[in-house]
Amino acid sequence: MTLECALCGIPIVPNSVRRNITSAICDSCILQVSGTSIYSALLEAIDAPILLMEGNPRQVITANQKALTLFDKKSEEVENHRGGQVFNCVHSFTEAGCGKDANCENCKIKNSIVDTFTSSTSHSSISTELLIMKAADTRSYVLQISTEKLGDLALVRVERYIADAKPDS
Ligand SMILES: [Zn+2]
Repeated sequence: MTLECALCGIPIVPNSVRRNITSAICDSCILQVSGTSIYSALLEAIDAPILLMEGNPRQVITANQKALTLFDKKSEEVENHRGGQVFNCVHSFTEAGCGKDANCENCKIKNSIVDTFTSSTSHSSISTELLIMKAADTRSYVLQISTEKLGDLALVRVERYIADAKPDS
């Protein structure tokens, strides 16, 4: 089976290092996009909701259309915002803020993203429950992500973002 690059269309040479999120994009396209500000074509070529994040400060640079649709946000509500603010996590609205609140210490989502920046390790299918605030309503949501380092930045693929089926206790 030959897989063609989602960006340039050339066949992807099977390599031993299988990337987590950008597996449908060839190495040369990845090299070209790293270190430039032209990310939008890459993000849109990935068939899933994607956030592009920077490490310091740790915040979202931009997101693809699927992510904006999933979170029902405009790009200016996502760009330069913390991940938790994009997800509407209740702890991102505290005084300390997303990632700094006491409740964020053991957040698996935050910790996997931090580790992606510090160790360049990709993380797959990291899942947790978050309290999500929408309008006046706060509900428990299941959030599942995968991560991949891209140059100095990181991609976060959102795989699940759904209200918990359990009734509120
Ligand atoms: Zn390519």
